[in-house]
Amino acid sequence: MLMFNNLIDGEWLSDGARAPNVNPSDTKDIVGEAVRGTRAQAEAAIAAAKAAFPAWSRSTPQARYDILKKASDEILARKDELGRLLSREEGKTLPEGVGEVARAGQIFAFFAGECLRMAGEKLASVRPGIDIEITREALGVVGLITPWNFPIAIPAWKIAPALAYGNTVVIKPADLVPGSTWALVDILHRAGLPKGVLNLVIGRGSEVGAVLLEHPDVAAISFTGSVATGQKVAAACIASRPMKKFQLEMGGKNPLVVLDDADLKVAVECAANSAFFSTGQRCTAASRLIVTAGIHDKFVEALTERMRGLKVDDAVKAGTDIGPVVDQSQLDQDLKYISIGKDEGAKLAFGGERLNREAPGFYLQPALFTDVSNKMRIAREEIFGPVAAVIRVKDYAEALATANDTDFGLSSGICTTSLKYASDYKRNSEAGMVMVNLPIAGVDYHVPFGGRKGSSFGAREQGRYAAEFYTTVKTAYTMP
Ligand code: NAP
Repeated sequence: MLMFNNLIDGEWLSDGARAPNVNPSDTKDIVGEAVRGTRAQAEAAIAAAKAAFPAWSRSTPQARYDILKKASDEILARKDELGRLLSREEGKTLPEGVGEVARAGQIFAFFAGECLRMAGEKLASVRPGIDIEITREALGVVGLITPWNFPIAIPAWKIAPALAYGNTVVIKPADLVPGSTWALVDILHRAGLPKGVLNLVIGRGSEVGAVLLEHPDVAAISFTGSVATGQKVAAACIASRPMKKFQLEMGGKNPLVVLDDADLKVAVECAANSAFFSTGQRCTAASRLIVTAGIHDKFVEALTERMRGLKVDDAVKAGTDIGPVVDQSQLDQDLKYISIGKDEGAKLAFGGERLNREAPGFYLQPALFTDVSNKMRIAREEIFGPVAAVIRVKDYAEALATANDTDFGLSSGICTTSLKYASDYKRNSEAGMVMVNLPIAGVDYHVPFGGRKGSSFGAREQGRYAAEFYTTVKTAYTMP
């Protein structure tokens, strides 16, 4: 059995309470056993990261490049094996799991290159004879708090820039799925990171996470998770002395607009992929399908047909399109919202049934609601499961207004063959990421990721924009 232990100051620690990591496709299958880190371990990890910071932040770009590139090579070489581990612990399908691992490998390759590209600027002073240099410096110890739904890609897109720009790290992954993050940390450790530079503390958010938020030696927090937890993180970072820099990536209620002139096949594929793949458990999932009247009935019929063909089964089985929901509590939440939708007067056009498969798992038939108003709870609150709401609108103007009428602003899309509407939507959508004739849940790893309104706070993640969060700017004046 795999043992998911904590890495603190270069040592793997197995002491303390342990909890089984259950496969949501088959609850009889125990993927591994994880330690439950304590407050004292979190404090020890922060102390180790603090001690390692001076040397790591001054290490050569070549030394950092070598380690990150070596880790990238190993992640990519082991993507099938690690993808299987990810699928078993989180429940996304094997191709999705392998794809996520490959993405983590690519992220490390990208940030290995960034180690060599850290640049400053020289500006002329408005006063005679003075030189001004603007440089970026590492922050210190950064605390990374991650969710369960991308257990290797999200840790990768936080750890890689943190290390590349010279910070030291304490990461607390989601307690529910620690195995993939543990495997990533193991690879980085063996790639040659000096002790204390990267520390892993598996444990509860309310315990280990809380220490990261309170501790004066943690300079910054990068958090991805729900809005409710994000707000607690923000309040704690502001209350902390000294105050911490923080960035939050949170939920979504993402709209996909389908106009009368859309290519029906493209629109159905975009909707099915964005709403239901990865069991709808993506912050960028399309949960509101906003459809103009002329194509509405054809679209609903074709999407329902497509849903009928989606195979819901064990995540690692060949041919599975949609794996299980991650656990009983998320399944309860999905079923609760399906019942709320019915009570609100929406029509359940397809799915929403609990399914039984060969092994005991958390299987749910993807659900499609029609006759939804944008005021209903199923159109306003994040469900985080394979449940989508179709909202009928009369024209493009109403579609755009409805798409923007939400507390969130992460991802958004439109299916249309009109250049005019596509351009207008890109300009006026109040989301951080906008897609035209594409699924709204797939993103590249080298460009900025993030949203607006209640979805995100602070600097963007991924790509070169990550430097905004993981470095601080210094302006130095010299009279030669
Ligand atoms: P969550 O419950 O908010 O948990 C996220 C992380 O915060 C976990 O590691 C959790 O630890 C920790 N945590 C919980 N309470 C804490 C506290 N009081 N102090 C410090 N840390 C605390 O979110 P989730 O259920 O894992 O993930 C689903 C959510 O993430 C959805 O809302 C989804 O939209 C969002 N998400 C957003 C993005 C994005 O980039 N915008 C990407 C993926 C997911 P434990 O669970 O171990 O206790």
